[in-house]
Amino acid sequence: MASPHPIAGLQNIAPYIGGESELTGFDRVIKLASNEGAFGPSKKTLEALSSSAHDFFRYPDGDCNELRELLAGKNNLPKDNIICGAGSDELISLLCRSYAGAGDEVLYSAHGFAMYPIYGRTVRATVVAAPENDITVDVDQLLGRVTNKTKLLFIANPNNPTGTYIPKSEVQRLIDLLPKTVLLVLDAAYSEFVDRKDYSDGAEFVTTNENVIMLKTFSKIYGMAGLRLGWMYAPDSVIDIINRMRSPFNVAYSAIVAGIAATKDNKFLKLSQEHNKKWLKWTRNSIRTLGLEVPDSVCNFVLVRFPQDSGGKLTAESADNFLKTKGIIVRRMGGYGLPNALRISIGTGEEMEITVNSLKEFMSL
Ligand SMILES: *Cc1c(COP(=O)(O)O)cnc(C)c1O
Repeated sequence: MASPHPIAGLQNIAPYIGGESELTGFDRVIKLASNEGAFGPSKKTLEALSSSAHDFFRYPDGDCNELRELLAGKNNLPKDNIICGAGSDELISLLCRSYAGAGDEVLYSAHGFAMYPIYGRTVRATVVAAPENDITVDVDQLLGRVTNKTKLLFIANPNNPTGTYIPKSEVQRLIDLLPKTVLLVLDAAYSEFVDRKDYSDGAEFVTTNENVIMLKTFSKIYGMAGLRLGWMYAPDSVIDIINRMRSPFNVAYSAIVAGIAATKDNKFLKLSQEHNKKWLKWTRNSIRTLGLEVPDSVCNFVLVRFPQDSGGKLTAESADNFLKTKGIIVRRMGGYGLPNALRISIGTGEEMEITVNSLKEFMSL
């Protein structure tokens, strides 16, 4: 029978698999699978959201003026070079749709964020993964894979799921050697967690280059993943194109309200940063003490690498299954080319203690 046909190749795209959120048979589940922030949203954000709960029959401000004004002020950037999106995911999608198509190449780092190749494939571009060095972005490997078909280069800095980053000197070197026709997207989803002097979220490079973009999100440190809010800082030419490509009301009313309150709440931001600093270090050290390999993460999660492949006892799979019997959900990493690893988000102190104790029990089985 005749039937509608989707564009060739789309049926071969593997859909994104998010972190699980439920386990049956537990009153309390510890969910450390999606890096959503240890505290949930701030009280002020919740208050703003509930006091405006009756207003959403109106269309939102399609240009997010008040929010962009605040973001510009807080980050010392020009408001006109900021666009908000329904999560940074939407902005990644818009960038792919605007700058790459069939026959073009979208370049990313091998263990980079899963949505780069997925969105790249949706526009029928060829996705190219550059190998990493010690599960860290390798600038030379990336440069070695740039061709005259390369249109977009995505780097999460720091990267999810490895937790590692490259210093700003390396970002600068990449920009210096990258053809100006390649749009470099610096995804700074975890920048607020980073506490290193040689790190840059990338904003300074957007200001001085015509081919660099920075992405940020409210999903991680601000605890607003369910509302879908992200933003980008980009040169004039990119802003012009994305404003033509995006939906007129791409950011929901409630996301704007919450984003404004969250941006103003510096206290919550500080508290979250301090909490993460303490428990990231504690978690990393405690898990290393168990004999497992944990790369130096600067994010709100750790990657835990297990010594044995499938068949052995000390595998990521068996650890994951064991943690589930304790009501703990972490993230398997097979989809990122790291089948021997689990990614564990930093939750509350109590959650981390329970999780590390459970891992300890697993290791001594
Ligand atoms: C979580 C994450 C995002 C997606 O953020 P949203 O704003 O929720 O779409 C983007 N990039 C990286 C690296 C992430 O880890």
